[in-house]
Amino acid sequence: ALAFDSVRHRFGQLTAVDGVSLTVSRGELVCLLGPSGCGKTTMLRLAAGLERLQQGRIIMAGEVVADGRVDLSPEDRQVGLVFQDFALFPHLNVADNVAFGLKGLARDKRMERVEEALRQVSMESYRNAYPHTLSGGQQQRVALARALAPKPAVVLLDEPFSGLDMRLRNEVRDQTLHILKKSGAATLMVTHDPEEAMFMSDRIALMNQGQLVQTDKPVDLYYSPASVFAASFLNDTN
Ligand code: ATP
Repeated sequence: ALAFDSVRHRFGQLTAVDGVSLTVSRGELVCLLGPSGCGKTTMLRLAAGLERLQQGRIIMAGEVVADGRVDLSPEDRQVGLVFQDFALFPHLNVADNVAFGLKGLARDKRMERVEEALRQVSMESYRNAYPHTLSGGQQQRVALARALAPKPAVVLLDEPFSGLDMRLRNEVRDQTLHILKKSGAATLMVTHDPEEAMFMSDRIALMNQGQLVQTDKPVDLYYSPASVFAASFLNDTN
């Protein structure tokens, strides 16, 4: 449901993404894993339409969303975003935060979608609450509800748990995984944490210096790393 086809992206002289092809199927969760600066966030921004594609092709739900000629805006892509810097709006209550991406819908339909999304993340009793009154984990669930409310074919998450303290992190990971799996979306999540990728992924796409070095199931990547880089990165407790 999400495909990168020979995607290349430069910032000046620097090649941030260097010819990456990767497909994420419906209902699948793939983690983009790799060290700081390897190009993970750039991949997500390209998929989201926040960065203009320079070379290659991106396809979502069978539709070319970017190929050098076509370049759909983020709103025109069937994509839900949970980004670090994409926090909840503090002046809007939970329901209005979730409704934010549903502007095109009639009011009835919008309210129905909001309730459905809040049920998905078990936050329906907080619909009138403001973000600052919620715990970090609850805010995270509302952010997930906002991303899922338009029923996107693709969900993109960038280090979604990095703002949470360690006590909360495992629990929120568990919940997030469960919710995403149930949603049936093709999910691509960025992390630099091998353990997190192992826990969350159906497959891990390991990147280094803009290139995809190995894409495999967590166990296969762990037990059969195809390179010295893969072996050492996975065993690093960074
Ligand atoms: P991190 O985990 O630290 O966020 P990353 O793997 O997500 O790293 P990117 O953020 O995609 O990596 O960055 C890839 C490379 O592109 C890095 O060398 C980064 O400095 C560079 N880069 C990213 N965005 C820009 C930009 N807007 N202008 C110039 N260089 C950029």
